[in-house]
Amino acid sequence: MNYKTVRMLVSIAIIVAVALVVRKLAAPKGAELQSGFGGSRIVMGTFANITAVAADEETVEAGIEAAFDKLVEVDEMMSDYRDDSELSVVNRDAFAGPVEVSDELFTVLKASVDYSRKTQGAFDITVGPVVELWRRMEKDGTRPGEEELAQARARVGYEKLILDEENKSVRFAVEGMKLDLGGIAKGYAIDLAVEAMKKAGAAGGLVDVGGDMRCFGVSPKFDNIWRVGLEDPSGASRYLVVLNLSDAAIATSGDYRRFVVVDDKRYSHIIDPATTASAGELTSVTVIAARAMDADALATAVSVMGEAEGLQLVESIDNAEAIVIGADEKLELVKTSGAEAYIRR
Ligand code: ADP
Ligand code: MG
Repeated sequence: MNYKTVRMLVSIAIIVAVALVVRKLAAPKGAELQSGFGGSRIVMGTFANITAVAADEETVEAGIEAAFDKLVEVDEMMSDYRDDSELSVVNRDAFAGPVEVSDELFTVLKASVDYSRKTQGAFDITVGPVVELWRRMEKDGTRPGEEELAQARARVGYEKLILDEENKSVRFAVEGMKLDLGGIAKGYAIDLAVEAMKKAGAAGGLVDVGGDMRCFGVSPKFDNIWRVGLEDPSGASRYLVVLNLSDAAIATSGDYRRFVVVDDKRYSHIIDPATTASAGELTSVTVIAARAMDADALATAVSVMGEAEGLQLVESIDNAEAIVIGADEKLELVKTSGAEAYIRR
């Protein structure tokens, strides 16, 4: 695949058809609802779009603000781009001794290790040292050498991450380890943002962070169904499929969105922890689940595991479905058995 087609593939995005302005909706029992779109704001290095539906405009706005606040809060805890985040403190100090962390961070660390076990290590937040080399390559175009990769590899492995449930603390068994929550924190933030919106009184809403999203309750069309389109990766402005979602989350991983090209070779930002090579077999993996955290982690895991093994994993998990676009030019969709039920005909 040459660079030009790669650039075209970058234009894939999940597009949501939602109202762009606060407007009134006719409610069935004489009541009135309003829906509002909070606009796009940059959070977690990408665009976040939030929609809320509620009885009045103040509640719509309160819901949207509460959700944005939550996204920022989680980013401040879990970003490895911020030196002062809780995660960065862990990365700096957890080899010297156990570091106590917030309930939120502990929840995500524990869920991550659970996913590592469930995926035989395909999903692994200890890939940090390898991701670091990938980022450097992105910045200056130098491919890491074998020795450098071997050194990084020695610091990767979820079994080296020691979690103490009682004290909510974390410790590294090996020096130089680095956690990277890029494959799961966004989903977790979306889940907390949805909770915050519900608490603020919203009857429905959608939180979309860079195409990963979760919706609940009443939609702007007042029918409890949120329509989410998967755009055609070939660049044609049409949807490959439109999904009907109610109280569900979806997340997409894929090398069409983030990658680096060095010496005409394309490297995905998703790493296979077993080999430390970049996982580039699939163009796109979309996972539907109840919680955005699960959808996010599973989408990343399936990208590493590949089509056959990955779909088998999702098939084995209750209430999770996957839609995969393979690496060839035909852009064929391969789905788990229950995915069809979400596709709009
Ligand atoms: P996106 O960032 O586009 O939402 P993902 O959810 O798939 O995509 O997350 C990819 C990110 O997860 C990478 O940028 C990196 O920070 C981290 N990562 C890379 N490989 C793995 C892996 N095998 N397991 C867990 N996280 C990973
Ligand atoms: Mg992910």
